[in-house]
Amino acid sequence: MPIDHKQPYDESNIFARILRGELPAKTVFESEHALAFHDISPAAAVHVLVIPKGAYVSWDDFSANASDAEIAGFVRAVGETARIVGAEPGGYRLLANTGKRAGQEVPHLHVHLFGGQPLGPMLA
Ligand code: C5P
Repeated sequence: MPIDHKQPYDESNIFARILRGELPAKTVFESEHALAFHDISPAAAVHVLVIPKGAYVSWDDFSANASDAEIAGFVRAVGETARIVGAEPGGYRLLANTGKRAGQEVPHLHVHLFGGQPLGPMLA
């Protein structure tokens, strides 16, 4: 069951605009519940963002309030995206900055997928 601590969602955030087709994105994968596209400023040879289509501010919001179908669809989309971009054979890293203190800039949940190169201990 969803937990009721929904965070206010800013419909004008840049990923909401991408989802509405108002801004372009280099799409890698799209499904009923998720969209994956190349990061505009890649920090690794492969740097893709995977976002849910629903209006969720962060991992915290999503994990508390999304339906089981949305969560399953999103998790599968992350795995499918990794396979499409070829990140899987050598290994890859997932990162979800959650909240301002963690450096989350865009207030729509996004999972960074880094790969395509040897990864150091951490990518900021
Ligand atoms: O986790 P954080 O919120 O800091 O990451 C936001 C990411 O969104 C950045 O990696 C940035 O390059 C990316 N971005 C993008 N396209 C935009 C705006 C931001 O890929 N139009």
